[in-house]
Amino acid sequence: MAEIQVYGASWCPDCRRAKKFLSDQRVAFDWHDIDGDEAGIREVEARNGGRRIIPTIVFGDDSHLAEPSNEELADKLGLARSAMQHVYDLVIVGGGPTGLTTAIYAARENLETLVIDSKGLGGQAGVTERLDNYPGFPEGIGGAELADRFVKQAERYGVELLQAVSVTTITDEGHRELDVETATGDHYHARAVLIATGSSYRRTDAEGEDELIGAGVHFCATCDGPFYKGSSELLVIGGGNSGLEEGLFLTQFTDMVVVVERGDRLRGSKLLQDKVLHHPKMNVLLEHAVTAFRPKDGGSGKLGTVELEDLRTGARSERHPDGVFVFIGLDPNTGFLGERIALDDRRFIVTDATFMTSVPGVFAAGDVRGGSTKQLASAVGEGAAVAIQIRGYLDRLDRERDEGMSA
Ligand SMILES: Cc1cc2nc3c(=O)[nH]c(=O)nc-3n(C[C@H](O)[C@H](O)[C@H](O)COP(=O)(O)OP(=O)(O)OC[C@H]3O[C@@H](n4cnc5c(N)ncnc54)[C@H](O)[C@@H]3O)c2cc1C
Repeated sequence: MAEIQVYGASWCPDCRRAKKFLSDQRVAFDWHDIDGDEAGIREVEARNGGRRIIPTIVFGDDSHLAEPSNEELADKLGLARSAMQHVYDLVIVGGGPTGLTTAIYAARENLETLVIDSKGLGGQAGVTERLDNYPGFPEGIGGAELADRFVKQAERYGVELLQAVSVTTITDEGHRELDVETATGDHYHARAVLIATGSSYRRTDAEGEDELIGAGVHFCATCDGPFYKGSSELLVIGGGNSGLEEGLFLTQFTDMVVVVERGDRLRGSKLLQDKVLHHPKMNVLLEHAVTAFRPKDGGSGKLGTVELEDLRTGARSERHPDGVFVFIGLDPNTGFLGERIALDDRRFIVTDATFMTSVPGVFAAGDVRGGSTKQLASAVGEGAAVAIQIRGYLDRLDRERDEGMSA
């Protein structure tokens, strides 16, 4: 049993938000859907003076929060939301593998470094069940364990780390000074900024998707797969590497995983394709697309039906899986940049050969950078490479300042 118990219902948007927040912070919790669960209802009522307020979140010390905001949850979990200083050599936006690697390199060179992450440290790697292709781990390694190792190493070198804090603006203040503003209203000044904000899951945009997110439609098998223990069928949308990998992971919870792919063949690596095609609990449906997600009758708000279109004939069909996991690609997390930094046509950040963006002193690396390979090993490699470029840039600024003073 986890230390934290979350009581709620699948139709409750605040419950979904709270669950997502805890998952993002990689905090273990047990989920109690109080719909039809008398013991769960009694617990919620007992804690809220007879009222049914959800989510009600019970902590290890037996305290609880009813319908908490993300900020209240962050405070309860003891997450620092403001940094200790206001001026750093380097501010890193995004604490995934790229940002954390740069932080380790920079701090080892005595650069005062602050990492700010809007969710939990570790990025996508931290929420990936198992990484089998990261060099140095012949048996593979769990994403959460690897992320914890990155964080511990960064902490060892004195990097300051903020979680659950979004960066909202990066402003070039002139005179080689950059200002980083956060959603908490704090401003941090630095001579260099690294944007390592990665990418986000793409949605199908099929009818009904938004309403059913967290109530049968998911984007993270690690976070939500265990909810389907003992189920009969799960759908995976997307036949690329992520879809196949996560589909294989989901087979431990269900009798059958059906991969739905728009194209006329799977797109994942040959090795993964072989595993999927020979797996007794996996089926593949090619040249099909989701057109709608519909809730069950009876007002439970949970997913009941998935409508699919056969792209060859246009024929519609229905399936009734217990859950759907969508893995159809990524969009860069660059929305907060507005038009201040040059982006490519897919809104990934454009950099030069030194990872510098169109704004002097602002660098970008990892999955958010145009042309990056969206792999953990390359994210870590780019993190190291950009750290060295930032070091060189700051050395040049120091030299220019010294020459200016002696002129
Ligand atoms: C399901 C899945 C399975 C994968 N499996 C593998 C695998 O087996 N092998 C492999 O090599 N790679 C795998 N990858 C890819 C790998 O995880 C990524 O390439 C890697 O995590 C990219 O690192 P990153 O630091 O650039 O970005 P991310 O890991 O995306 O981290 C970016 C961070 O920035 C934060 N952020 C975003 N916007 C803001 C903001 N405005 N303010 C502050 N913080 C912000 C985010 O919260 C996030 O923590 C997988 C990815 C997924 C999704």
